Amino acid sequence: MAAEDVKPERMEEDLKKPICLIVLGMAGAGKTSFTRRLSSKVIDGARPYLINLDPACREVPYPANIDIRDTVDYKEVMKQYGLGPNGGIVTALNLFSTKFGQVVELIEKAGKKHKYCIIDTPGQIEVFTWSASGTIITETLASSCPTVVVYVMDTVRSVSPVTFMSNMLYACSILYKTRLPFVVVMNKTDVVDNSYAVEWMRDFESFQEALDAEGDGEGGNSYIGNLTRSMSLALDNFYSDLRCCGVSAHTGAGLDDFFKLVDEAAEEYEKEYKADWLKMRAEKLEEEKRKKEDLKSGKIEDTDTVLDKNSLIESVGVGREISDVYLKHPANESSSDEEGEEAPAEIDDKPEDVAMFQDFIRKHVKPNNTGNTT
Ligand code: GDP
Ligand code: MG
Repeated sequence: MAAEDVKPERMEEDLKKPICLIVLGMAGAGKTSFTRRLSSKVIDGARPYLINLDPACREVPYPANIDIRDTVDYKEVMKQYGLGPNGGIVTALNLFSTKFGQVVELIEKAGKKHKYCIIDTPGQIEVFTWSASGTIITETLASSCPTVVVYVMDTVRSVSPVTFMSNMLYACSILYKTRLPFVVVMNKTDVVDNSYAVEWMRDFESFQEALDAEGDGEGGNSYIGNLTRSMSLALDNFYSDLRCCGVSAHTGAGLDDFFKLVDEAAEEYEKEYKADWLKMRAEKLEEEKRKKEDLKSGKIEDTDTVLDKNSLIESVGVGREISDVYLKHPANESSSDEEGEEAPAEIDDKPEDVAMFQDFIRKHVKPNNTGNTT
């Protein structure tokens, strides 16, 4: 009897998880402006839950519930380790990703009140899309909440066919890399209507004509023109079931259409993606458990599980254990000797980069401060 009572409740809990939107796009496409616009939209009685993952932005123009800048001081990271701005941003995001298990717990709780959770990412897209931390964050999120990638494109800049093609190739690569439902947002329609882009996607010939009209510079028979032409053929498949809509972050036009597409994409997550993500997470957790047991029983040596950086990163991606280990130690005064059972923290001869990473955490990650309640 009890089991039957519990099951539907649990399913209801699942339904209450917020739909997470990872907002990606080239620098200047309008990710932050769009997030700001979405932040004031009340849906089902609440505004979206907001997360800023850009450690380097001077000001966050929306009331972020979780702000990476509260946790990691990116300027301090740059100073301490002699990094340039890009290195500082990447490292700050790496540090934060080790705490992402905690962030996901906050997001899950937020689902009781908020239907959507919006995650604004660093200006430079590659910081998120081609870094270990971006993968960790995406995987941790997608294996616990319905997750949709929102790719923001600058409609004004993309009127050049070659730029349009580059943007679409990037979007396409992200789609295949993340394997998550996808919505393309053509932003800045207050300046240029996005119908040209929709037409280029639907009608190959109209794109070719636009390319030919470019003349010898970028279009015509130039190398880049020819490359773009063949690329556009290759993208035909990608376009065929791509969800896209025009919006203006400045005026708020197009938001209703946008949310319709997001809801569709979230349904797609439930039907087609969720099972795979859950399976992946279960497999990784199982592997972790097995490794721990082997370690305990002496079947394998410490170095196999702990000192390998890839396994470290993978572990952070699925479970919360490694980040919890780190989290116990940043303040470090009282807790380091409390329990000796968590092996990673006890290892002394770590490879240099792992040791440096842990050192970072101790110095720069403020404990117990992943969220500010608003
Ligand atoms: P991000 O780097 O992707 O976060 O881009 P930002 O949100 O910082 O925006 C970059 C620039 O584009 C800023 O100058 C914004 O004012 C401008 N911008 C963003 N959205 C719109 C829009 O809908 N219309 C217009 N005209 N400008 C926009
Ligand atoms: Mg931004």
